[in-house]
Amino acid sequence: MRIVMFGPPGSGKGTQGVRVAKQLGVPHVSTGDILREARASATELGRRAAHHMDRGDLVPDDVMVGIVAERVDAPDCARGFVLDGFPRTIPQAEALQETLKRKGQLLQHVVSLTVPREEIVRRLAGRKTCGSCGRPWAANDPETKAGRCACGGSLTTREDDRPESVERRMDVYTAQTEPLCAWYRERGLLREVDGTGGVEAVAARISAALARDATS
Ligand code: AMP
Repeated sequence: MRIVMFGPPGSGKGTQGVRVAKQLGVPHVSTGDILREARASATELGRRAAHHMDRGDLVPDDVMVGIVAERVDAPDCARGFVLDGFPRTIPQAEALQETLKRKGQLLQHVVSLTVPREEIVRRLAGRKTCGSCGRPWAANDPETKAGRCACGGSLTTREDDRPESVERRMDVYTAQTEPLCAWYRERGLLREVDGTGGVEAVAARISAALARDATS
């Protein structure tokens, strides 16, 4: 199954994307994680992406399209994938359709998590991320309060979760990424899911939406 997890920063698409991928037995492909890993290992890609990321801006389409085309071509994606954080622009979405078409594949679902802006800003302000495994923790998770991830790594605030970058990321989302909702809706792929409430409640809504659209 080939799925895109879609939504604003802090909508929970990372957390839910990991769960959906595990359930389906396919890789979770997060472009944010790929870029953060590239930065941590100081590769050429990491250096190119760094200043865009810290400002809350998007990394250029040509860079992102190349990364994703290569990643979904890897053998572990043969049975499908859950893409998280890509596409973020209409040219990226068009490139993804092209890449899949060349392989004789189709995208099945775009799960769009809807969360009000005030809730997003509140979530991101309290979010901490593990320096070792990259897992995000919410403000009210015990791990956040203890400053330590389940893997033992220490938790910090992501550079782009600082208030200046959060506002910028939300504006970038509204201007460049939100138009993708209509684009995917027109193609019959959009599954809108209420992203408010606890992780389990949202996960149940996603499973229901995928099951509903698999049978319709
Ligand atoms: P995320 O972890 O998905 O919030 O991504 C963190 C940052 O990585 C974003 O704010 C962008 O700077 C960059 N990024 C991740 N995915 C993309 C993408 N598909 N297109 C452009 N930039 C991206």
